[in-house]
Amino acid sequence: MLYNSTRDNLQEVESAYAIAHGISKEGGLFVPQSIPTLSKEDFIALKEMNYVERAKYILKLFLTDFSDEELDYCAKGAYVGSFDNDLPAPLYALSDKVNILELWHGPTCAFKDLALQILPYLLTTSSKKVGDGKKTVILVATSGDTGKAALEGFKDVAGTEIIVFYPNDGVSAMQQLQMNTQKGENVYVCAIEGNFDDAQTGVKNIFTNDDIKSLLAENNMEFSSANSINWGRLAPQIIYYISSYCDLMDKGDDYLKDGFNVVVPTGNFGNILAAYYARQMGAPINKLICASNSNNVLTDFLKSGTYDRNRDFYTTISPSMDILISSNLERMLYELTGHNDKQVAAWQNSLKYDGKYTVTDEVLSKLKELFYGGYCSEERTSATIKNTFDKYGYLIDTHTAVAVSVYEDYKESTGDNRPVVIASTASPYKFANSVLSALGQDVPNKEFDAANKLSGLTITTIPAPISELETATVRFSNVCKKDDMKEVVLKHLGISL
Ligand SMILES: *Cc1c(COP(=O)(O)O)cnc(C)c1O
Repeated sequence: MLYNSTRDNLQEVESAYAIAHGISKEGGLFVPQSIPTLSKEDFIALKEMNYVERAKYILKLFLTDFSDEELDYCAKGAYVGSFDNDLPAPLYALSDKVNILELWHGPTCAFKDLALQILPYLLTTSSKKVGDGKKTVILVATSGDTGKAALEGFKDVAGTEIIVFYPNDGVSAMQQLQMNTQKGENVYVCAIEGNFDDAQTGVKNIFTNDDIKSLLAENNMEFSSANSINWGRLAPQIIYYISSYCDLMDKGDDYLKDGFNVVVPTGNFGNILAAYYARQMGAPINKLICASNSNNVLTDFLKSGTYDRNRDFYTTISPSMDILISSNLERMLYELTGHNDKQVAAWQNSLKYDGKYTVTDEVLSKLKELFYGGYCSEERTSATIKNTFDKYGYLIDTHTAVAVSVYEDYKESTGDNRPVVIASTASPYKFANSVLSALGQDVPNKEFDAANKLSGLTITTIPAPISELETATVRFSNVCKKDDMKEVVLKHLGISL
């Protein structure tokens, strides 16, 4: 399997190169030349496997330059011992038709762990294959969850250094504490005065700056990315959608006779893109339901075909989705234009300079066939948390609530009553203040009092990675201007222009 860049089909690389470098040199994203498919027999075999075996089976199709031993090392390293009961992605039946895919049983309590527990293994294995013994410097822009999950995955991994930037006023108190207390000798965390898009743009600019790149090379270092622009982040996310289908197969052929829908609370479009790949591989997914919060740039795009980021940016109670530039949409457009690199590059260029672009009618009609887009206000998000708890005794976080709410709209407007898998992307305890307030409770001043109150009220347990933060030492409290990110990186690495 070879990979092309979304902006230049002449770039043709193996997966190890794509993963080690993160992004193509002209700024495009690496995409597999074709999507492998799974037969009925494959699915029957997968159904009998545990998560580690499913992971190996699926990754082997995409990472054909990895040996079986390497994949075994990566999958076991990631998924044995780091998730509750070694079940990284269990399905919870909320009702007969509604299945919640719980993706927050990992060490940082958000779905990012599913990919970021394995990425360090994939990346160090890739670097060995293609690298020249250089130290890998991982730069991360985070809306809250990626940062912590990447820090946890890469802490003290030999040959790596990791630097995380997050928007100062754009993450929850618990997310901030999670990052600022991170342990490890090779980690660094800095807040920026700006929003997530500023952080993401800053990181992309550093990545593609030739002066900085050569400076790093002189010092025997090179950049890579732990954001979902890295194929090594995306491929592992396909596994849990295939895995959820395998688990649904237990309910019998009749249950799945018309396939099922998947709902994903979306920001950067990485998670829902992984669901699209699972669909193309043969999982009988009907509609991909793309759920946004008030930053509803994707909802408008899926309706009109115009992607327009020139709009107000809202800071919401689902901060990991407060994004106006959904990076992974670029891969989707590459697929839907039949790998038209020139067209994709032109659209990305308009996005960069005018903040918008409009796709062709043909692409729009394909998008409409695959996706349903909807969004949810802050009030509705809170009301959904309360209703779901009152009705089912099941506690969801703010991001999952956006997904549940958009699913309700979808069902009402289409009458489609197929079984559904809703991606539950974070533990409610990461957003304890907002969840408690949604349940109609006064929110205590201290974050941990809120978590304890939530636990007492709902008779649910605070996950250990969160309760342990109460006594953890704060190691980082840096804030920088968005234009100073470059200097912060160089200074931390001990080199200067
Ligand atoms: C990152 C994140 C999202 C958005 O996922 P994308 O892949 O960026 O679309 C949704 N919910 C939570 C809790 C997240 O951390």
